[in-house]
Amino acid sequence: MNRIGNILAQQEYSKEDLIELLNAGPEDTELIFKKAAEIKARYIGNKVHLRGLIELSNICAKNCLYCGIRRGNKSVERYSISDDEVEMAFQFAIQNKLGSVVMQSGELSSPVFIEKVESFLRKAKEMSNGKLGITLSCGEQTEETYQRWRVAGAHRYLLRIESSNRELYYRIHPKDQLHDFDTRLNALTSLKNCGYQTGTGVMIGLPFQTMEDLASDLLFMRDFDIDMCGMGPYIEHEQAPLAEYNSELKPVQERLTLTLKMIALLRIIMKDINIASTTALQAMANGGREQALKVGANIMMPNITPGIYRNKYALYNNKPGINEEAEDSQRNLETIANRADCEIVYDAWGDSKHFD
Ligand code: SAM
Ligand code: SF4
Repeated sequence: MNRIGNILAQQEYSKEDLIELLNAGPEDTELIFKKAAEIKARYIGNKVHLRGLIELSNICAKNCLYCGIRRGNKSVERYSISDDEVEMAFQFAIQNKLGSVVMQSGELSSPVFIEKVESFLRKAKEMSNGKLGITLSCGEQTEETYQRWRVAGAHRYLLRIESSNRELYYRIHPKDQLHDFDTRLNALTSLKNCGYQTGTGVMIGLPFQTMEDLASDLLFMRDFDIDMCGMGPYIEHEQAPLAEYNSELKPVQERLTLTLKMIALLRIIMKDINIASTTALQAMANGGREQALKVGANIMMPNITPGIYRNKYALYNNKPGINEEAEDSQRNLETIANRADCEIVYDAWGDSKHFD
């Protein structure tokens, strides 16, 4: 067995091992993918669960340096989904047996926003007789707000740490109280305290990011004992300040491979968590999401946001699905799953097996 084969055969990986695995060349990378596929087959099987993605609002109080809908981007036309529109999206999810929705939004903490999300949660439960599973991804909130939303029906929450390296975190966020690394960490702990299946993730291929950072991200997710992960490539947005460093980015193909390696390694070290095959992967390359399913991912998120808002929730360049109607997205997902020898399960929550 070669060096990478020997590392892969170990029960536990150190940070140095993970760095070596992340640096593996093309042939060795295939060994990593093979091992991840075996582990996925054993612990998860070939089933894929869906979450219909509803982008509630692109109004955000924050100014993350990488994001297209940051507060400082004045060229974004802001929207908030109406009650009727969100109900239509729930109806679509119910009729098409998606099983779950994810409600995602720019970060706001006003009483009006908190109440709105709460009313949407109750509506989704009422319309589906409690059957629709609900993930939230509405940023940092107080434990009290998380608790309120939990009581109203949300049971999973995704809050990416973005980078577990405190210094890198501060290089990709403004240095002010609103973008505080410890607040983010504490919010993740609050989510666990409230009994959510807790998900986090990072962006891969950020400027200034090293392999050591990514290895630490994997260990962070393991040590935090997350239930779910949504991580994807960083994709530049020309109106976001981080675009200043575009010339330092890894080429697209490298960022894609690195993302797939991260997914595969996370699957190997966290065998039974839910891992999303993200939209950003598809934006990078055709077939990106299918490859992610092959090497460890088991969740896909068809975008069911009303078509008129699709191009207003542009986090990065070339976000896919902007011109597609919801039905098209779902058909595409069937094809993607089939190509990865996976099968979509309808009308099921598909909770994380890791959660207890
Ligand atoms: N506002 C909430 C938050 O930040 O947690 C939820 C919505 S936010 C748009 C969801 C995720 O989009 C972020 O966690 C971030 O990782 C990702 N994102 C933002 N800009 C991105 C970019 N340029 N490339 C890739 N992912 C990006
Ligand atoms: Fe707002 Fe989330 Fe974008 Fe940051 S990543 S600017 S919190 S929408």
